[in-house]
Amino acid sequence: MSANASRLQAIQAISNRQPVAVGKTEPLGNIWASDVFNLSTMEWALSKSAFKAMKNTVQTGAPLDPATADVVAAAMKEWAVAKGVKFFSHIFYPMTNITAEKHDGFIITSPEGNAITEFTGSLLKKGEPDGSSFPNGSLRMTSAARGYTAWDPTSPAFVMQTDNGATLMIPSVFMSWTGEALDKKIPLLRSNAAMDKAARKVIGLMGETDIATLNSSCGAEQEYFLVDANFANLRPDLLLAGRTLFGASPAKGQQFDDHYFGAIPARVQVFMQDLEDQLYKLGIPAKTHHNEVAPAQFEIAPYFEAANVAADHQQLMMTLMKATARKHGFLCLLHEKPFAGINGSGKHVNWSVGNATQGNLLDPGSTPHENLLFLLFCGAVIRGVHTFGPLLRAVIASASNDHRLGANEAPPAILSVYLGDQLEKVFMDIKEGKLTETAKGGDMDLGLSQILKFERDPGDRNRTSPFAFTGNRFEFRAVGASQSVSGPLVAMNTMLADSLEWVAEKLEAQFAKGSSKTEAVVSVLQTVMKEHGNVVFGGNGYSPEWHKMAVEERGLQNLPTSAEALPMLQDATVIALFKDTGVLTPVELDSRYQVYTEQYILSIEVEAKLVVDMAKTLIYPAALNYLGILTATGSGMAALGLTLDKSSAETIAGELDAMMKAVAKLSDAIGKHDFDSVNEHMAFCAGEVRALMDEVRLHADTLEGEVADELWPLPKYQEMLFIK
Ligand code: ADP
Ligand code: MG
Repeated sequence: MSANASRLQAIQAISNRQPVAVGKTEPLGNIWASDVFNLSTMEWALSKSAFKAMKNTVQTGAPLDPATADVVAAAMKEWAVAKGVKFFSHIFYPMTNITAEKHDGFIITSPEGNAITEFTGSLLKKGEPDGSSFPNGSLRMTSAARGYTAWDPTSPAFVMQTDNGATLMIPSVFMSWTGEALDKKIPLLRSNAAMDKAARKVIGLMGETDIATLNSSCGAEQEYFLVDANFANLRPDLLLAGRTLFGASPAKGQQFDDHYFGAIPARVQVFMQDLEDQLYKLGIPAKTHHNEVAPAQFEIAPYFEAANVAADHQQLMMTLMKATARKHGFLCLLHEKPFAGINGSGKHVNWSVGNATQGNLLDPGSTPHENLLFLLFCGAVIRGVHTFGPLLRAVIASASNDHRLGANEAPPAILSVYLGDQLEKVFMDIKEGKLTETAKGGDMDLGLSQILKFERDPGDRNRTSPFAFTGNRFEFRAVGASQSVSGPLVAMNTMLADSLEWVAEKLEAQFAKGSSKTEAVVSVLQTVMKEHGNVVFGGNGYSPEWHKMAVEERGLQNLPTSAEALPMLQDATVIALFKDTGVLTPVELDSRYQVYTEQYILSIEVEAKLVVDMAKTLIYPAALNYLGILTATGSGMAALGLTLDKSSAETIAGELDAMMKAVAKLSDAIGKHDFDSVNEHMAFCAGEVRALMDEVRLHADTLEGEVADELWPLPKYQEMLFIK
């Protein structure tokens, strides 16, 4: 029989693979932020007055005058040119989960024909990419393509070094000619401003007079898979859809939990180090890396930063992860569920708000019951998650994250808040109108004198909650691994802004009645808990009992698919939220609904077409080939008076027939386009199309278990997951 040469060659090639040689890594101090035009670079590159103005802009968002912009531009150019940079680009963040760049040279020529470099404040301030082909959700007709990028001085410019050259990158916002936000950065900046405004009101009402600008912070833990490129190149599904659309479960999966936090494979270790050195040069504080639960799955987490900078860094990190993986002979998969039956990847978005004068407002200190500001902010988050749970669900909706949420290893699609034992008790007491002392965790004492004692955390962790308080921040655990963190951050900041405005109003009313601070806070939080306490849940979020209780007794919404979640962006309360806080106009919000729904439908259509294509051109021929061999062998044996066990041939024939029938139905479904609404089309994709894809897969995966191994064309799960 003619073996499937490519797959066997891939296995051969990988078996002897060594880590890619990278240069010796340099001490952190030599490389940290060396390619970033940050405040410390500016301190020596700028005049005293220009530096002072820039620092004020970076720290408070105050406007920068044009003369200073000119000075900054000139210094930025000098700095970049000295690094060999000839081009600059505004880098921006369209509504897709990618980044976009348009490169321009510093070069101009003099009448004498000399090449000189030029970069002015006005070039720094504004760019004009012809962005007509970016998704804009009807905000611009293609004939009216003018779009602007504008410098965001609060996220530092940097030099992007690649093997093919270096470019000065200027983080920017992206808007239409009419000034509507076409990107993910504008709403993030606006949401931060809305939160700042509302937070100041509350802090001021509580008697503080010195209040610095408030900022939200974000630390995002990124999970990902690495698959050897030799295998990935033989899998059109991995290359085009980022996940396997076929593949039988291996005999060994993750049952033994022998990968989690285990020793990192050598090639992966080298990849991580290479990646992290690049991140350090860009001032991205990579802090943690380890193996994750699934074989071939890993995690990287940078130290937290201001949300706007963290969002830009997160985006850059995803780009670098993919590029660096390629250099090391891997395909990096950020998809939320690349392998069926194996743990998926999420991105836990750790979020807090604070400033230089009051500190982190989500930090309870050691006596939460005495920390009234903390209690108010925490209560505001509880109200926010309860009121806008469906919005939080909508901002993590995507075709890929649908495979992960609620899959019994990932947070459910029901938004609830986990507070931990200590804090839950504080809030439950407040519900009864009491403010009681809080228990500490106590010392951890193992009775082993050589192990130093340390203080136990006051609350355990809950992996099953989509939104968990983790000591001094909330962790939004349901965010998808492949998505930008901006959408979730916008939703969290904006719901908090709304809740804090509400809190401020209630506090004012209490103070007008002559209540003391403590009385006022308890009263406001008592209302929060009575009206919104249903969202607080400390139990097992994976359990079927919770799913039932959440919906039937607590009145929370369970929105298992994006087809159900995305329409929440059109909900009247969500439209009002964004309008009232000034974060998104109704038109801007609607454009996002249009872009995200279109992406959802397109993603599923691409996958469905791939399923048809792979079933017909890879799986069918392989199985037919083997069936032919079996049949011929059977006749040969019959001539000798022997009988072949026919069960395999019969199974193959039956499965082939069933698979091709399902393929025909799926092809018809892909061709269907007469829908009354986008929502109906989404529901069709989530229901019929996905079900038919699963049906094709079921038969194909059965065939994988019948056909001779050496004839099978697609690298198998055990190969992709275990050979590194
Ligand atoms: P774990 O896996 O235990 O949840 P990690 O250390 O992997 O924790 O990641 C925790 C993330 O939370 C890191 O990015 C960390 O910097 C971030 N973080 C810590 N404190 C805060 C805070 N106050 N606000 C926002 N993020 C924070
Ligand atoms: Mg975490």
